[in-house]
Amino acid sequence: MNAPVEKPKKPAMSLEKAAKARRKFLQSVGLTGGVVGLSLLGYIPVLSASAQRLRPPGALNESDFLSSCIKCGQCVQVCPVQAIKLGDLIDGFGVGVPHIDPRQQACDFSCDAVQCILACPTGSLTYKKPPFLNIREGALLAAAPILKAKENDPEPTLNLKERIGVARLARPSACLAVQGKGFKGQARGAGFAGKMRYMDVDRWKPIPITEHPYDLPLCDLCVRECPVKGAIELRPFTAADGTSRMQPVVLEPCVGCGVCEMVCPAEPAAIIVDAQATWHGEVALAPAVTPKEPS
Ligand code: SF4
Ligand code: SF4
Repeated sequence: MNAPVEKPKKPAMSLEKAAKARRKFLQSVGLTGGVVGLSLLGYIPVLSASAQRLRPPGALNESDFLSSCIKCGQCVQVCPVQAIKLGDLIDGFGVGVPHIDPRQQACDFSCDAVQCILACPTGSLTYKKPPFLNIREGALLAAAPILKAKENDPEPTLNLKERIGVARLARPSACLAVQGKGFKGQARGAGFAGKMRYMDVDRWKPIPITEHPYDLPLCDLCVRECPVKGAIELRPFTAADGTSRMQPVVLEPCVGCGVCEMVCPAEPAAIIVDAQATWHGEVALAPAVTPKEPS
């Protein structure tokens, strides 16, 4: 019988080789960590962007909304002006969740009864938040907002308890009223696809905004097209040069629908809606913001 053949021993790794291998291993761990870290960092702006999204009327607070919405798209289906869109990949964890981009298409309450709330099967959109959920400070409306289109109806209110945002004159110097200027033409130009209902045309049929041109000695589009009674008005103020001017002032009944942002002819809009914001009272325009007239 032959003696068993001894397996040749693997030569021991030289110290230099071992150090090289360790460096390689640490490099790959560092690289992997960096890639994961960077991709997580990429989510930070995505998350903060999704927190700023304007949600459909009656939406719960952002965290409650994100966790309860099942992304069924029922609210999207029933909106007569197609104001509600589902979040895409840039919304990160809010992908598939409904939101409104008011500059593109605001909710003008054309459906009267806030059909999206009625269609929502989970209560993520609700007329009245259940008591065990938090209500944002200042978000609760003092009185049910009255819809101008329903003012003479037996039930003129929106039945909403919480606003979805609050309008704000973010760029006073761009506001035509503040500049003392009028407006003539289509609110957002000939290529704009947004729709709205006009009571003087047809209460039940929203039409393209391009089909409803204006000729105003002083721009007041945000005020005249606001669907909620007493939510915004033009008020006088004294400009830095001593002249009397007008400015839009947002009032307590504002629900944050975004119609003012959609119709504002300034580019970018002088007035915008802050999503999920609370109402902080009437903000007066400082005379110092009055723009210089172009020479
Ligand atoms: S619609 Fe825009 S430009 Fe016109 S008054 Fe309102 S904020 Fe100013
Ligand atoms: S002020 Fe603007 S956001 Fe507020 S209710 Fe009126 S149109 Fe809507």
